[in-house]
Amino acid sequence: FLEASGLFNAGIGSRLQLDGRRRMDASIMEGRRLQAGAVAAIQQVRHPITAARLVMEQTGHVLLVGEQATRFARFVGLECQAPPSPAQQLAARSVQPLAGPLRRSWRLYKAMRRGRTGRRLSPPRTFARLPAERETVGAVALDRSGRLAAGASTGGISVMLPGRVGDTPLIGCGVYADDEAGAVSMTGIGESIIRLAVAKAITDRLAAGAGPGSALRQVLNSLVTRIHGTAGALVLAPDGRFAIRHSTSRMCGGYWTGSGSPVIRDRFR
Ligand code: ASP
Repeated sequence: FLEASGLFNAGIGSRLQLDGRRRMDASIMEGRRLQAGAVAAIQQVRHPITAARLVMEQTGHVLLVGEQATRFARFVGLECQAPPSPAQQLAARSVQPLAGPLRRSWRLYKAMRRGRTGRRLSPPRTFARLPAERETVGAVALDRSGRLAAGASTGGISVMLPGRVGDTPLIGCGVYADDEAGAVSMTGIGESIIRLAVAKAITDRLAAGAGPGSALRQVLNSLVTRIHGTAGALVLAPDGRFAIRHSTSRMCGGYWTGSGSPVIRDRFR
């Protein structure tokens, strides 16, 4: 539903890469048998999360990428998504970030397009904060039988080289689920989340006995202090305790505990 709404940075609402293409990433994991499936840089598929689920259920693999992921989705009959309109493509190609690491990717892309080779740019030391706009979607869930699951779906960050893949389709980075420890779904700058394998780092702390709030706080703190990363997470323990927290200024989220009304907010601290 969220992928089809156009309100989030996932599915039809996904950000475009600098060449005007909409390449999407998604992953899903279940905690009983530790099965997982993911797609990266998939195009023109209405529900990338369903493609990820079918990779898990039907292929025996964990991750399919690019054109072959798109072909797989077509083969299993997944609904198509219209390509970005010419106006959307033009807007993506003409984006001009003013400063920081995003501007660096943009300059690199321009140089590559002009056919320059061997141009050296040093990697950025800090990661740009995501501008407050459409957000990636993720979910964690616990069913009556004690089975945990985590999933996430995204269009990536606001300025990215064609072919860039973030944390979302990487199991242990963007998502992780283990019935004996917990389930985690991440959002934020993938370049920082990947380097600390954040979803697995949180799950490992849960397995070692930490509660969801403290496990999440410890890992988010080290992400911020060690590599100036930016992220938010949903964390659910096998006993139903959960935490939602972010180092970004805001993060839309909601939860339902099985009775009463669902709670929806755009800040969790
Ligand atoms: N984590 C996603 C990525 O880096 C982006 C996001 O969560 O907003 O691709």
